[in-house]
Order: sequence, then C-alpha cells, then structure tokens
Amino acid sequence: MNLKDQTRAKGILERMQETGRIPGSVLIFGPSGVGKTVASLDLAKGILCNRSVPWGCGECISCKHMDHVISLILGDDWEEISVYSEEGGRKTFLYLMGDHPDFIFLPPHGASIRIDQIRAVREFSYTKPALSRGKVVVIDRADLMTRESANALLKVLEEPPAKTHFLLTAESPGNLPPTILSRTHQVEFVPLDRETFGELTGSPDLYELSGGSVTKAKILRERTDLISMVEDFLSLEPLRVYQTAKKVDDMDTAGKDLFFQLLEDRVYGMFREGRIGYDDLDAIMRRILEIREGIPRGLRVDLALFSIYALMEV
Ligand SMILES: [Zn+2]
Repeated sequence: MNLKDQTRAKGILERMQETGRIPGSVLIFGPSGVGKTVASLDLAKGILCNRSVPWGCGECISCKHMDHVISLILGDDWEEISVYSEEGGRKTFLYLMGDHPDFIFLPPHGASIRIDQIRAVREFSYTKPALSRGKVVVIDRADLMTRESANALLKVLEEPPAKTHFLLTAESPGNLPPTILSRTHQVEFVPLDRETFGELTGSPDLYELSGGSVTKAKILRERTDLISMVEDFLSLEPLRVYQTAKKVDDMDTAGKDLFFQLLEDRVYGMFREGRIGYDDLDAIMRRILEIREGIPRGLRVDLALFSIYALMEV
C-alpha cells in the first residue's frame, strides 16, 4: 500500500486491519486526487482477504479476484464490469462488479448518486458473503448522493447488515447529512505537497492549475486544448471569445465543468496580480458558479460565457 503524504490516515486504516476492528462504515474525506479512491479499494481488499493481512496478502483467491477488479476500476473502460437494472425496459446504471462476489463499487451516475443505486446496495448488503468472511461496498463520492439517496443509505446504516462494510469517499463531508456522518468513522486525507505531486504525476508545473490533484493533473495533460481555450477566452478579442464559446457549448458535461474550473483559477490569478478588482472578481465568480450549477440542467453555455465576457469587458 503506497499512500504518499497520507501517513496519518494510512496509520489509522492499517491499525483497523491489524486489530480486526473495522467499523461498519468508514468515511475517507479530503481534496480531489490525493488517493482516497485507491485507499478505499486497497482497504476493501484487506477486509476481504482470506488471510486477514492488512491491505491483502495478494495471494489468496479473494485477493486475486480483488486485484483484477481493482485494475479494471482504475482503468478507463468500465463497460465490462458495469451492472445495470432493466426495469420496465429502462436501463439504469447501478454499480461496478467484477469477479469478486462480495464486493461492489458505486461511482456517481452522471453528476449524482441516485436512489436506484442505493436500493441496489441495500439488496447486495443483506445477503451472505460467498467468497470472503465479509462483504464490502465502496461508495465513491458519497457527497454526490441526492437527498433521497442519502436517506435511503441512512436506513441501511441504522440497521447495519452484520457482515457488510461500507467505505465512503467524499471531497466535502459537509454535503453529507449529519445523521450519516455520525454513523461513520471519519479518516481525513490531506492535500499533497508539491514534491509528492511532482513524483506522482511527473508534471510539477501542473501543481497550481490542478490544485494539487493527481486526478485533475491527469485530465489536464490529456486536455491541453482546454488550457488554450481559457486563454483564448481571456484574450477578450470578440472573435476568439465567440469561437471559444461555441466550442465549450459543444463539449460534454465533464469538459465544460473543467473549462470553468480552469477559468476560475485564471480569474483568481488575475485578481492576485491586481488586474481586476474585488467587485469584478466577486461578480465573475458568482456568474461562474451559476453556470456550473446550470450545466447539468442543459444551460446554454455559449450565452452564459458572453455574459461573463460582458462583465470583464468593462
Ligand atoms: Zn489475501
């Protein structure tokens, strides 16, 4: 288990496994891209290991299955292990499940974790383990549960299945209801320092832009076009602004969101450099926030960008 910079969190998680006292639900929280998901997967492997070795022995049948599932989850192609429900002819994504019968991984569906997904978790969690002594559900980005989903999960946590452990990850635990927080054992992950970030990504220059997030740095390296689009927009030359706005409007939701995150970073930078005043910063940031909230609802991003352009032009 390699948890760079997360010495304290690693110690806590390791002790849980060594003593065999693993809480029914654990919440791993901290900023994006610092190892929370990988840690939750490795912890799951340790919990399910048939030899009870912390982080897994790597040799028992359970560990072998987990290694395979984990490599698929951390890879980019999820189709092979995606499980859907097909009620009433409607296909709904539920979770990822590989060849370990006692483990499921539940990422958000689009921008949220939906009630169907939590219902599926409930069904999974009350059945007996088949391969290991226990079962594990990882809910990745639990802070993206809808209110309905959170209530449904709370009901499960209130009557916890004896052998199922819930591992939740979240960037902002504040988005989880206090009733859920009080039922989870919380472990905090800290931001990476520049040196570790550089070692892990090979791109220390992306530290500021990615906010120290390894995940974001990976996306940024693949999407250098976004960085130049932000620059085009901030040139405030009408034609370049117009072309950028059209391009952003044509992108998928994740691309749009990343564009606006980058734009936010750059606008903050301009404020720190004294190129725009506080009132402008405040107005622009509020507008960007409204836009980011509107994206999942299908907001016209090109028009919205023109409104930011109008704010910056004065
Ligand atoms: Zn093992």
